[in-house]
Amino acid sequence: MLDKKALYQISSGLYLVSSKNEGHQAGCIINTLMQVTSKPVQVSITINKENDTTGTILKSNVFHVTALASNVDMNVIATFGFQSSKEIDKFQSFETKYDTLDNPYIEEGMNASFACKVVHTLDVGSHIIIVGEVVESESLSQENSMTYAYYHDVKKGNSPKNAPTYQEEIKTDKKTKWRCKICGYIYEGEELPADFICPICGQPASMFEKVED
Ligand code: FE
Repeated sequence: MLDKKALYQISSGLYLVSSKNEGHQAGCIINTLMQVTSKPVQVSITINKENDTTGTILKSNVFHVTALASNVDMNVIATFGFQSSKEIDKFQSFETKYDTLDNPYIEEGMNASFACKVVHTLDVGSHIIIVGEVVESESLSQENSMTYAYYHDVKKGNSPKNAPTYQEEIKTDKKTKWRCKICGYIYEGEELPADFICPICGQPASMFEKVED
């Protein structure tokens, strides 16, 4: 058997990975950053091949990754997690900094920051694992890191459909639930208020659907 609920027990954080190539800036939210070695300091990210950020990293051979703090503004997740860098410059509404490798990044709502050079890539089907050597890192705040469990349980957020960990909501109780079709946010209640706005991605009530048994 394959119990998908078991996958929820794998701990992970949330991170913003970004890069720039020939003036084009891209960034997205991932929950797949891991430290790989300490000498040298290497980290890996796993990222969907279709993401604009992935193509940008593979061209520039550098990336930046920051760890989301638990108090991060949901607007950061809405912008970087649920929109495409092909369509907008996600950095335009944030104070953008540039690391020593010229990668764009933001410090708002982040507690740690890493500038990385790509040293290995591994094709794993829908996704690619990219190993980077950390050339610069900085602790930005003492705020706790945003874990995926906290985001899911407390903030009621889900992954976008192309995340490696995306799952359809599993209905485990009798409560009526409404799901945001864009970000997966779940509203619990018999009726969804007509003026309801998704707290994760800002979509109106018309973008919600009832979760069926
Ligand atoms: Fe939403």
